[in-house]
Amino acid sequence: MSHFEYIGNLHIHSLYSDGGDNISHIARSATRAGLDFIAINDHDYLTDTLHLEEEGFYEDVLVLVGLEIGGRYHHYLAYDLKKMLKSRGQGPQEVIDQVNGQQGFGFLAHPFEKGMPLTENSMAYTWNDLSVTGFTGVCVWNYTSRWKERVKSALHGLFLLTFKSLSLKPPSRETLAFWDDLCGDKRVVAVGGSDAHGSTFKYASINFKPLSYDHLLRTVNIHILLEKKMSKDFKKAKNQVYGAMREGRLFIAHEKICPAKGFRFSFHSDEGAGLVMGEEGLFQPGDFMISVPRKGEVRLLKDGKLEKAWQGREAVYRVKEKGVYRIEVYRHVFPFGWRPWIFSNPIYLR
Ligand SMILES: [Zn+2]
Ligand SMILES: [Zn+2]
Repeated sequence: MSHFEYIGNLHIHSLYSDGGDNISHIARSATRAGLDFIAINDHDYLTDTLHLEEEGFYEDVLVLVGLEIGGRYHHYLAYDLKKMLKSRGQGPQEVIDQVNGQQGFGFLAHPFEKGMPLTENSMAYTWNDLSVTGFTGVCVWNYTSRWKERVKSALHGLFLLTFKSLSLKPPSRETLAFWDDLCGDKRVVAVGGSDAHGSTFKYASINFKPLSYDHLLRTVNIHILLEKKMSKDFKKAKNQVYGAMREGRLFIAHEKICPAKGFRFSFHSDEGAGLVMGEEGLFQPGDFMISVPRKGEVRLLKDGKLEKAWQGREAVYRVKEKGVYRIEVYRHVFPFGWRPWIFSNPIYLR
């Protein structure tokens, strides 16, 4: 059961909405960052249309175009759209239904965002109606959201700019608890992203770009697992990437903590059946195999609760009962301590 692994960055804004650069320049940043694919999600209320004509391979990087749909209380990251979709006057459920109506799919973006205290008065774009249904999953780790909510003063800002990656907090407990709870009923995919804007700010009459595309595309990425090599044919490759995202055959990693390529989490039943992260099966006795590319603290969670933690790289864990199991890995970085590094999608044993 070996898979081909590809790394991508989701949730990027371009000049079509409030981002700081055009798509071909962003694609070059992605090439420099060593990514295989990126997805652009401009705000529906700031862009004239869905720019599917920008999709394709830029050198070796696959560029996909979706949208971030919604205004004040529901930002929905939508993918595989066929035509433009405007959120004006529509509630969160209508947005999700319309995306599904186009055979697209999507994720609740930053549902528990807190906002930046310093310059944005903690203005946050949260999801106020969490009773919605029909979404594919939740973006549990948004680099920009998590970074900016700690900027309480100029001094904090300076510290967080100097150590912007090492000081990044993990997905919030609220977000993980919300997601874990949903997974108790059905498969719900978790993704992470940069929410890259590459914006230039002015503070005390100085212009600066605190979070560039070159930086952000090296931070919170997803690693998808494909059964076959990614096709050189654009349409086939797009279907492969979106297929893995729909199924949750992926993990989230903060690449600046440590490159995460090679992480694996799989289930092998005594009967010989196998599952990888994101997949669901009936419980049978068997083992989890966990492999981490560099040493870290590995935490196995069952139904959102810590089941076991250990330090190392390779582990086999005997599974005794059904549950929704997922992995978190933390890596020790002096003097910051254990930093959040890898978050897998679950293996669902029902
Ligand atoms: Zn947003
Ligand atoms: Zn965004």
